[in-house]
This record gives sequence, C-alpha cells and structure tokens, in this order.
Amino acid sequence: MRFDIVTIFPGIFAGIFDHGVVRRAAAAGILAVHTHDLRDFTHDRHRTVDDRPFGGGEGMVLKPEPIAEALEALNVTPKETRDPTRESVILLSAQGKRFTQATARELAKLDRVVLLCGRYEGVDERVNHLLADRELSIGDYVLSGGELGAAVILDATMRLLPGVLGNQASTQFESFGNSEAEIAAHDQDGAPPRSTHGAGGLLDYPHYTRPVDFRGQTVPDILTTGDHLKITRWRREQALKKTLRNRPDLLQNADLTDRERAFLASIEHS
Ligand code: SAM
Repeated sequence: MRFDIVTIFPGIFAGIFDHGVVRRAAAAGILAVHTHDLRDFTHDRHRTVDDRPFGGGEGMVLKPEPIAEALEALNVTPKETRDPTRESVILLSAQGKRFTQATARELAKLDRVVLLCGRYEGVDERVNHLLADRELSIGDYVLSGGELGAAVILDATMRLLPGVLGNQASTQFESFGNSEAEIAAHDQDGAPPRSTHGAGGLLDYPHYTRPVDFRGQTVPDILTTGDHLKITRWRREQALKKTLRNRPDLLQNADLTDRERAFLASIEHS
C-alpha cells in the first residue's frame, strides 16, 4: 500500500516512520510512504502556498492550485474517474467525519491513500469539493496542522495490512475489534485465551505482566490459574466494565449477549 503525504512541513515526518511496525512494514515492501513539500508545486519566487481569506477574518488559507498541481504531479487519478476501491484522497480537517477503527479498516483495503495536510485557518473549500474524496478529523479538538492527523491515520491503517503484524488475528482482538460473532468464528475449542480477546467493538480489557506484586498491588488471581475459560470470561467482563466507565457510547452498538447485558446492568447500579 502506498501513502503520499502533501504538507508544507515534510520535515515533521523525518523519524516518525523510522521506528517499529511502520519501519518493518516499509522494509518488507508492504508499505511505501512518500512525503511531498507543497511548496514544490508553486511557481513564484516566494513559493507561496497561502493567501488571505475572502470575506475577511483571521489568518491565512491554503490555496487550491499548489494542491491540485501536487496531485497531478503524483499521478493521482482525477476525482471523476478515481476508483474508490483502490485510491482515496483525504483532506485532514477538524470539520471532517471522525476517523475511527472502522475507517482504518476501509482504508486498509485500498492500494493508495493521499493525505492532504492543512495549516493556518485551513484549506480552500474547493480542494474538498474538487480534489478530495473524504474530509477526516482525528478527534474533536483543533490541531495546528494536519500532519499529526496524517501520521495517526497512516499508523492505524498500515497495522491492519496483511503481513504487517506478526499475529494478524490480534487486530481483531483489541479495542474496537470485530464483533463477538466474527471472533467466535476464529476461536478454536480449548485454545488458550488470546493476548487480547474479543473486544467486539468495545474497549480492550486490562493487561498485566510480571511482577505479580507491584507496589502492593497484585495481578488478579484468576490470570494465574491457567483456567482458560474463566480467564476469557473475566477478560470480557473487564472489557465491558472499562467500556461502561470510559466510553459508554460504544455500548449502544455493541454485539452483546443477554448474559453480558445482565452483567452490565448489575454493575451499572453498583
Ligand atoms: N479553522 C479550522 C477550524 O476551525 O476547523 C482549523 C484549522 S487548523 C488550525 C489547521 C489545519 O490543521 C486544518 O486545516 C487541518 O488540516 C488540521 N487539523 C486541525 N484539527 C484537526 C483534526 N481534529 N483532525 C484532523 N486535522 C486537523
């Protein structure tokens, strides 16, 4: 999969992708990341990428022409003929739809993603209409530029690509993972509990490692019993508990059994 990042600060990405899973994926040829300086697509002496907003107001706005030229130079298919199952041009924006794990799963099916990073007051809206397929936000806050958002989208997407993680199943058994039914299809009878088990659209359960006793707080006994079934149940309950406490909104669409609903009702009022 190829990512192109168009930015006025390509230097921000130096180092960010030179570590861990991204570096390994690139070395293995699964992932290619190319960053492009938007100023390379200007024609004036000052390499101008921004201008004053029509209608007045604070700050500057990124001009549409350098962005359009960048896409042409990168051989990105024009929007009208772009195949949405292969290629996507994404504008990073606080006004965009929220980027989620489900979006990452969709993007991971594509061959190429182009990430357009805004700065200043934002990007001329015609970029959104004429050049980009999606406007994505990484959360309900305002960043000073789209670069960190681009890095977030790239990271969350590339780790879902086949062959990137040693254990591909783990991407389904973590926070916001697939539904319990899908997970059950992967489970084998009597198999040891997975390191992360059955998030089913919820948050992951809490993890523990050695030492057993850390500053007086010990690892929950059940995790050292070796009873796989009980551990699996306990982990699911912990995931439910944590989701109820930190992200109750996720429970609305969660795929829950009657037993799990009863468990939630019992702790909700405790
Ligand atoms: N005036 C804009 C608004 O109120 O929505 C904010 C512009 S922001 C200072 C500059 C750039 O940062 C945006 O064009 C966008 O590319 C990026 N950005 C800011 N917040 C973001 C977010 N939550 N998600 C993704 N990109 C964001």
